[in-house]
This record gives sequence, structure tokens and C-alpha cells, in this order.
Amino acid sequence: MTAHDDERTAQLAQSLSAVRTRLDAAVDAAGRRPGDVDLLVVTKFFPAEDVARLITLGEKDFGESREPEASRKIDELRADAGGDLGDVAFDMIGSVQTKKARTVARWARAVHSVDRDKLIDHLATASKSALDDGERSTPLGIYLQLSLDGDPTRGGALEKELPELADRVEASDSLALRGLMVIAPLDGDVDEWMARTAQAHERFRARFPQATALSAGMSADLESAVAHGSTCVRVGTAIMGPRPLISH
Ligand SMILES: *Cc1c(COP(=O)(O)O)cnc(C)c1O
Repeated sequence: MTAHDDERTAQLAQSLSAVRTRLDAAVDAAGRRPGDVDLLVVTKFFPAEDVARLITLGEKDFGESREPEASRKIDELRADAGGDLGDVAFDMIGSVQTKKARTVARWARAVHSVDRDKLIDHLATASKSALDDGERSTPLGIYLQLSLDGDPTRGGALEKELPELADRVEASDSLALRGLMVIAPLDGDVDEWMARTAQAHERFRARFPQATALSAGMSADLESAVAHGSTCVRVGTAIMGPRPLISH
């Protein structure tokens, strides 16, 4: 794997620039400041080469959603970079099985999909081991995933369950509560869902003022999310193109 100056890089540069233009316009339209909203480029299903291309284009924040795909990809990138990826960071945005907590804690800056007490306990233990072993140097960031409609297939906890989960995160030195994450349901009006998300985040922050982050918005709904206070949009398809079908 080498530095890239090929057709795919040109394609990524173009789609990235289009998404950054959309994001800047959304931030401006919402009367927010440039830099208020982070862009997490979601590279799941795409090869390490594409992440390397995006790094050469100046991107530093990436989202991955599956193990062991993420671990393999990041190991490959690290090896290629001579062991150190500098300030490039990867967040885990997909659901985490408790048995995968240990490997996720080795590479993830934060986990965006935390929705149950048992997972918090596993991540706390895993992050502590990773800190003790020098595999990470900072506590694992935690976003509690809010379920807006209670649909179990998308994951997430109900709003009323969040304070207890947050207390559990706060009780661990190896975890750091960042805020909330949401995936808007496909049905209904996305602005309505995002408005409800903003209200839930405000109520949550009244109890946990340090939980300032709101991970909301994807390729199709980033404008609405930014209008309703998102601090981190997770964009895959609009940058990477359609995800390839992968057989297991
Ligand atoms: C895949 C994924 C995304 C990116 O979705 P796109 O519609 O491709 O932008 C965002 N968030 C989560 C949790 C995902 O799994």
C-alpha cells in the first residue's frame, strides 16, 4: 500500500469536497460556527487503501462498524505507516458484542453505539486493560445510543434508561462520557426525529453537562441533524459510494 494519486483518489476528493460543501452550508444555515460539527468518514466495507487515500486528502476521523474488519484494516494502516498513525482516529459506530469489547478497546477512540449496562461493564474492563498494556493512552469515549422509536433492530436505549447508563459510564475511570448518538428511523419526518433528539439531548445535558457531543446525521439527513445541534455527522455513502456487497 503506497501513497495514492489515482482515479479512485480523484473520485474520493470530489465526493469529499461535495460533502464538506454540504456540511459548511448546513452549519452556516443553522447559524453555527465553522468547526462546530465534526465529519466522521464511515469507511466500513471499504479497504484500507481507501482510508489511506482519505488520509492523504487530509481526513483524520473515521468510523468503522464491524469487527474483525476494523481491527484488520487499522493494523494494516498502522503497519504501512511504520506503526504510528499520528492524529488519525477511528470511532466504533456499529453495535458491539460484549466478546468483542477487548479488541474494540485497542483501536477505538470512542464507541457511539453503547446501549446497555453489560456492554458498559465489558468496555470499562477492556479499556482498563488496554490502558494498562499501553495499547491506548486515553479513556474510551462513550456515546449512549438513544432509540427514538424503541425499535430493537436499530439498537439504542430508551430516553428514560439513559441516566442510569450514564451513571455507570461515569463510575469508570477508563471510560469518558461524550454524549448521545442517534440513528433516525426511516419512517416519519426526519426533521421531527431530529428535533426530538435535540430535546432529549438537552434534557440529558441538564443532568450530565459534560455530555456535550451529539452524534447524529448520515449521508441522507446531515442537514437536518446539523440544524438540530449535531456535533458529529457520520457519512459513508455520499463520500465512499455505494457499499460493496460482502459475503460472509
Ligand atoms: C453505515 C453507517 C453510517 C453511514 O451511513 P451512510 O448513509 O452511508 O452515510 C452512519 N452511522 C452508522 C451507525 C452506520 O452504521
